[in-house]
Amino acid sequence: MTLRSHEPIIAIATAPGRGGIGVVRISASNMEPLLARLFNVQLTPRHAHYLPFNDKDGNVMDAGIALLFKGPHSYTGEDVLELQGHGGPAVLRRVLDHCLEVGEEYGLRHAEPGEFTQRAFLNERMDLAQAEAVADLIDASSAAAARSAMASLSGAFSNRINALGDRIVRLRILVEATLDFPEEEIDFLEKYQAHATLEEIRSDLHALTVQARQGMILREGMHVVLAGQPNVGKSSLLNALAGDDIAIVTPVAGTTRDKVIQQIHIQGVPLHIVDTAGLRETDDTVESIGIARTWAELEKANVIIHLQDARAQNDELDTAITNRLPAHTPVLKVFNKIDLLDAGAQAAFLTLTDTDTPFRKNHNAPEAQLASAATDVALGISARTGAGLDMLRQKLLDIAGWNPSSESPWLARERHLKALDSAGGHMVLAAEHASQNDRVLDLFAEELRLAHEDLCAITGQFTSDELLGEIFSSFCIGK
Ligand code: GDP
Ligand code: ZN
Repeated sequence: MTLRSHEPIIAIATAPGRGGIGVVRISASNMEPLLARLFNVQLTPRHAHYLPFNDKDGNVMDAGIALLFKGPHSYTGEDVLELQGHGGPAVLRRVLDHCLEVGEEYGLRHAEPGEFTQRAFLNERMDLAQAEAVADLIDASSAAAARSAMASLSGAFSNRINALGDRIVRLRILVEATLDFPEEEIDFLEKYQAHATLEEIRSDLHALTVQARQGMILREGMHVVLAGQPNVGKSSLLNALAGDDIAIVTPVAGTTRDKVIQQIHIQGVPLHIVDTAGLRETDDTVESIGIARTWAELEKANVIIHLQDARAQNDELDTAITNRLPAHTPVLKVFNKIDLLDAGAQAAFLTLTDTDTPFRKNHNAPEAQLASAATDVALGISARTGAGLDMLRQKLLDIAGWNPSSESPWLARERHLKALDSAGGHMVLAAEHASQNDRVLDLFAEELRLAHEDLCAITGQFTSDELLGEIFSSFCIGK
């Protein structure tokens, strides 16, 4: 990706395929020469001009709206021209090619993915977290995710980060000022309530991190892998969970026993559920390939559902499977086909699942803790009748750490969470250096500086070009 390039760029901004309208967008630091070549009328900025779009021989390729935004008051901060025509691939392609031909002498070239938004960031039209929110809004797979992405885009997340950063800087200035007047040290910090301020900042940072974790679940979703012996009902469970959800079944090319991924939503939280080949001893080569893939898939899971037949509890092979499951991943042990048990046994299963499980209380516990707590959970369900499925859905949300009462007001990425965690770590050290018995003020100030730097990385104030390239290259073309 070409960072900080100043060539004019062009792309079809609307989705590929046919649509009512289609938009070709150009960004250039100076659009005037290009405009003179494209149209024989003067465009008034921010006015819709209904015009023919002519090719170089004067043939009308399309007729539509031309809209000019003069920099810096535009999406990218440069001059931006939008040509809104009919949304067919061929007609848009013609308009695009014509512009490229006419613009060649001015260096006009195809935009790379995310390049418009990247310019918006580099020209300070938005910060990095907002730029990421643009992509997240486009990618949002549920109304909840879209709502949160829009909140991020309008700055809700960035404002919280900036406000917290400002408070850290003010505290650091106070500590550094104290360093210059060592004899007044205690008075100074006490007078301005440095310790209380530090604790407030830490608690607000913690709250922000908890919310960010929610925002990340909403954005990334959870990878749930269904494992178990053949015929225990994995595929039936996948279908039952998908229910009325607009299911996107993606059969991955390859052998007949390849995995199937289905995206579902539970309370707006995206879950990617992977159905796998049944696990058993086998001499069949094709099947053993499927089984090897299943183990590989299990390594990547955020949560594993180990499905078993309720009529065969304590089955030897299931014990063997349990022992081979990755130790670092939460496992939900689920007994299927309880409809085949007698009424008493069914009722026992369904009341058992009503009890509050340990991990419910640990929303913010580290993953290792979640895993060990969750491993003990056993649920009874029937993929056929739907019994117990609501409980299963709830358990999945619990394991994800999803807390419906505090839906994140913004989306977050793993990158944000890492930065917040790192800032939190520096604040812990800051507090240690600030403590009465072991006061090391220059280290106190230094940890505050590092915490502030972590927060700035989220909004992109200190961010490497490599990272910027990585972020923007994951955007779609034309955005
Ligand atoms: P998989 O091999 O683990 O994917 O199992 P399938 O989903 O293909 O199911 C195997 C068989 O079990 C099918 O005949 C299903 O109809 C049946 N089955 C699945 N779930 C249930 C259930 O909850 N109750 C009953 N009675 N049968 C089930
Ligand atoms: Zn199956």
